[in-house]
Amino acid sequence: MKISHIEHLGIAVKSLDEAIPYYENILGLKCYAIEEVADQKVKTAFFKVGQTKLELLESTTEDGTIAGFIEKRGEGIHHMAFAIEDGVQNALDEVQAKEVRAIDKAPRRGAEGLDIAFLHPKSTHGVLTELCEKGK
Ligand code: ZN
Repeated sequence: MKISHIEHLGIAVKSLDEAIPYYENILGLKCYAIEEVADQKVKTAFFKVGQTKLELLESTTEDGTIAGFIEKRGEGIHHMAFAIEDGVQNALDEVQAKEVRAIDKAPRRGAEGLDIAFLHPKSTHGVLTELCEKGK
C-alpha cells in the first residue's frame, strides 16, 4: 500500500460543545465542519492542522463504541488514520495476506465521503488504525 500522510487523528470526547472551545480558543484552530455519521453512532467535528485533520468524536448513544472507549479509558486519542493513495480495498487485501486482523473486510463510507476501513489494535501494536481514501 502507499500511504501519503496522516489523514486525521480521531479523538474521543464526551461533548463536542465542551471540547470545541479548547481547540478554537486555546489552540486557535477553526472548526470547519460538524457531521453526524449515523452508521458509527457519532457526531464529528473537524479541524485542519496543515495536511492533517483532527476529528473529534462524540457518541450519539450510550452504547456506541466511542461511549465504551471513554467509559474504559477516558477521553483521548481513539485512532490514527492514514491517507491511502492506491485503494483501501487493495490495502486491506495486502494486510490480510500478511495476517493482520482487519475489523472491516471491505471499505465503508465514513465522514467527509471517505472510503474507510479499520485494522484491529491487536494487530497494530495497540493503535486502532484507519485506512482511508477519498471515495469515488
Ligand atoms: Zn477517523
